[in-house]
Amino acid sequence: MAKDNYLGSELWRIRHSTAHVMAQAVRDIFPEGAAKIAIGPPIADGFYYDFDLPRPLTPADLEEIEKRMRKVLSEEHEFIRRELSADEAREIFKDQTYKQDLIAGLEAGGFDEYGEPIEEDTVISTYSHDDFVDLCRGPHVGSTKDLNPKAIKLLNVAGAYWRGDERNPMLQRIYGTAWRTEQELNKYLHKLEEAKKRDHRRLGKDLDLYSTNPDIGSGLVLWHPNGAYVRYKAEQYCMDEHLKNGYEFVYTPHIGKAQLWETSGHLTWYDEYMYSALDIDGDPYFLKPMNCPFHIMIYKNSLRSYRDLPLRWAEWGTVYRYERSGVLHGMLRVRGFTQDDAHIFCSPEQMPDEIDRVLNFCLHILRGFGMKEFHAYLATRDPDKSPGDSERWDDATEALRAALERAQLPFDIDEGGAAFYGPKIDLKMIDALDREWQLSTIQFDFNLPDRFDLTYIAEDGKQHRPYMIHRALLGSMERFMGVLVEHYGGAFPFWLAPTQAVLIPITDRNLPYVEKAAEQLRENGIRVKVDSRTDRMGAKIRDAEKLKIPYMLVVGDREEEAGTVAPRLRTGDQLDPISIEELLVRMSEEIKNHDQV
Ligand SMILES: [Zn+2]
Ligand SMILES: [Zn+2]
Repeated sequence: MAKDNYLGSELWRIRHSTAHVMAQAVRDIFPEGAAKIAIGPPIADGFYYDFDLPRPLTPADLEEIEKRMRKVLSEEHEFIRRELSADEAREIFKDQTYKQDLIAGLEAGGFDEYGEPIEEDTVISTYSHDDFVDLCRGPHVGSTKDLNPKAIKLLNVAGAYWRGDERNPMLQRIYGTAWRTEQELNKYLHKLEEAKKRDHRRLGKDLDLYSTNPDIGSGLVLWHPNGAYVRYKAEQYCMDEHLKNGYEFVYTPHIGKAQLWETSGHLTWYDEYMYSALDIDGDPYFLKPMNCPFHIMIYKNSLRSYRDLPLRWAEWGTVYRYERSGVLHGMLRVRGFTQDDAHIFCSPEQMPDEIDRVLNFCLHILRGFGMKEFHAYLATRDPDKSPGDSERWDDATEALRAALERAQLPFDIDEGGAAFYGPKIDLKMIDALDREWQLSTIQFDFNLPDRFDLTYIAEDGKQHRPYMIHRALLGSMERFMGVLVEHYGGAFPFWLAPTQAVLIPITDRNLPYVEKAAEQLRENGIRVKVDSRTDRMGAKIRDAEKLKIPYMLVVGDREEEAGTVAPRLRTGDQLDPISIEELLVRMSEEIKNHDQV
């Protein structure tokens, strides 16, 4: 759901109103005045409210709060809006320190009732229902009878600093959700459960894919052999496809002199994401947050003619960016990561075709990973951020829009949402649980070619400025791995699975035959393991299923005699016993067809 459609919508009002009722219930379970209420906005799929309370909340408290909420909802109370002066508001909330803080912001203007900056003028207003009043701009539902007591649920409690600032008191944030019907609520709760099961941090541990270690540092990922194998397979596939698509590979260093980053402008506009300088022989160097300046230096290494263009240079480039520790999240948000980066340099005449080509290539690659549904966002120029030069902007934006239309991708336009240096397409994948994941970016850059004075000699014999396009299709290997795990719930497609088959001998007698079969599979590029533990069969199958291994190949005397294995799939399906040769044919078909889409 787009954010703009959500704001003020029926569900938004239901959730906002339910948050008020929750705050009322929390107030009521603590002795007079002991509960200080802070802020409680609707969020995607629900709402929260922050409280300053004399003791930590327990699960029993949540039940009690929910019970009280249901009681209020069983009665009929109207939500009544009132506009008032700052002094009147201060009087109403005289015991509520956080509200006093917010009133000061409202009075100063430019802040809403959550202390968030807004453009419009602020009128101070309250909404009340029953005996509860909150500082609020609304909108709300008409009355508590518009809230379905069977469609609300409190979910959990988390710590949150007042105004998100760790120097402020830590508050208790209760998250809840509210829907129109019980059915909608149950559907959502089911999705939450599914999402929990697919959490890449949990599966990353269970499947032994990766870890992080406080002795190394937050947001720095260790790829274990299983995760590394998935990455290797993914990279191999992508790199091969890049070569087929007319890209060339380059390799560049991880550090560069301060002067490079001054020319590129990164030290001016990107410095908050860059780590402090290293000193090498008295010269300051910086870890690269992006690969672009290095690719540009390769471009500048020779005189370029129109006959050389387009140049498509790709690099699996490892970059380092500072992110606040609070926003780091498993593999999805990290401090060191490897982009599947490329830069395209082309002439204005080639540009529209290049954009078409890069978008189609992007979809081809993602579909090869079994991703089917996408949603694109086209970010356009903000004339305040990027004055002048509207012709190049218009041409580039038009090329992006035309490519999206030709590819028949659903897209939204983020009017004025582009960075100062050029328009872009962000491509999000919609996963099995209907969640959107940002993956690919195709980004024009009108800034770096100017700053580095990039030119090529055109047919007219004169120097012209090339177009430069940054693009990353998977985004980064770390993030992409996290998304893959969540999308597949850890059950990687056969061609990517860290272990593709496990051979399970029924008795020790069958072990020599099993070892030989394993060898035959291995020689044909299949990653197999032999489970020779003395555990019972059922336990071995359960373990293999937990590891989401696509094939379990069971071998007893009967299979050995017939020269076969009995395959069982991770879905639980049992296949008829087949020979290793037949199995290899089946497996290679599965591998070959993964990108035939
Ligand atoms: Zn409100
Ligand atoms: Zn770049």
